[in-house]
Amino acid sequence: MALSVLDLFSVGIGPSSSHTVGPMRAAKQFTDGLESSGQLPATVRVQAELFGSLGATGRGHGSDKAVVLGLQGQSPETVNTHTADDQVAAAALDAELRLGGNHRVDFNWDEDVVLHRRKSLPAHPNGMTFRALDHTGSVLRERSYYSIGGGFVVDGDVSGADKVVADDTDLPYPFTTADQLLAICEREGMSISDVMLANELVWRSEEELRERLLGIWAVMQECVDNGCAAEGILPGGLKVRRRAPSLFKKLSETDAELNGASSADPLLAMEWVNLFALAVNEENAAGGRIVTAPTNGAAGIVPAVLHYYTRFVPGANDDGVVRFLLAAAAVGILFKINASISGAEVGCQGEVGSACSMAAAGLCEVLGGTPEQVENAAEVGIEHNLGLTCDPVGGLVQIPCIERNAIASVKAINAARLALHGDGSHKVSLDKAIKTMRETGADMKSKYKETSRGGLAVNVVEC
Ligand code: SF4
Repeated sequence: MALSVLDLFSVGIGPSSSHTVGPMRAAKQFTDGLESSGQLPATVRVQAELFGSLGATGRGHGSDKAVVLGLQGQSPETVNTHTADDQVAAAALDAELRLGGNHRVDFNWDEDVVLHRRKSLPAHPNGMTFRALDHTGSVLRERSYYSIGGGFVVDGDVSGADKVVADDTDLPYPFTTADQLLAICEREGMSISDVMLANELVWRSEEELRERLLGIWAVMQECVDNGCAAEGILPGGLKVRRRAPSLFKKLSETDAELNGASSADPLLAMEWVNLFALAVNEENAAGGRIVTAPTNGAAGIVPAVLHYYTRFVPGANDDGVVRFLLAAAAVGILFKINASISGAEVGCQGEVGSACSMAAAGLCEVLGGTPEQVENAAEVGIEHNLGLTCDPVGGLVQIPCIERNAIASVKAINAARLALHGDGSHKVSLDKAIKTMRETGADMKSKYKETSRGGLAVNVVEC
């Protein structure tokens, strides 16, 4: 079982990695399966059923639209985010789908995409079943999939409840716990990003990896730019106004007034960090192009802290960006293997908590932290998010998600700085904090796990 940094950071579409990216991938996988098995020509109808958290909050997260796009051959990496809504509307209006992009079948939205609000599949809260029928109404192919967080999809018929996409590649420095990772660093005299890089080289050259990671960073920057420019109200009916453009204007004016001089306001950098996170998460809520990091709901934290690094840390450069992402991914892998990054499984501690921990580790690494200090930063980043519930108002990734990313970004920077003031020794290990997160998530009632049946979701009046 091996995970790459490119599994943790991938380009997708908002608003949710588990509820939008995952369902789109699953639907495409199903259609690809029809094609490769030669069953596509005989298919006259497809049906999709969404269960558990997907059924409960799928409308707000755009899961139904994602399924329609995936069935028509679109994938999260390449779908045109500007025309996706039009393509979905056309399918509903014309009452037809083009499976895999070409094969036409009749389509009735109400009957063919069913969201079950109270039913679940056995292996995971985010289950889906797809069915293809022939002209007699007989089932040609039926498959269940699980969207297990961060856009990862598991074929339920092949892998059952497996939590991690299986890859049996042998790594030079395998690790499944932070203790093992630290032991490798000590034995080999390597940093955490060195260990990750050495492992990554089994899949691709250093040159290719660097290019891919800087490509991910470019998408993050573009996302911030788009979020700073797009004014207006976010979709979904909550009437949440985008805040990034006006904050960007204010901060830019302050910058212009300062004209290179340092500000008397010691917290100005924090305002920029807030802006970077708001910009990303507003873009996510609007269905824009996003890097899952490690999920969409928590997609603002790593980019915001990386922007902090490149804007405010003297000597920041592309090498640092690459090392930041590698160290952050090492920590993300620990969460993925030993707990979960899915809000539907463990609440928001698994999304915003994991991202905060990853960003703290990445920043600590590029600020010169030792492996022990980086592990300490990651631990602080998750410890103070333990117990965080997932209760999105109206099932939309807006309240509390957008603001929560800004707060967690600042928290990640604080965690890195706290760790750098110590020598790496501390009482609560990262492994123990991750174990605590998993157990806390298991004890959490399902109403706090992305079902919008508890917390803020029931105490805030939707208007
Ligand atoms: S509350 Fe957290 S876990 Fe839930 S949708 Fe929002 S960001 Fe994701």
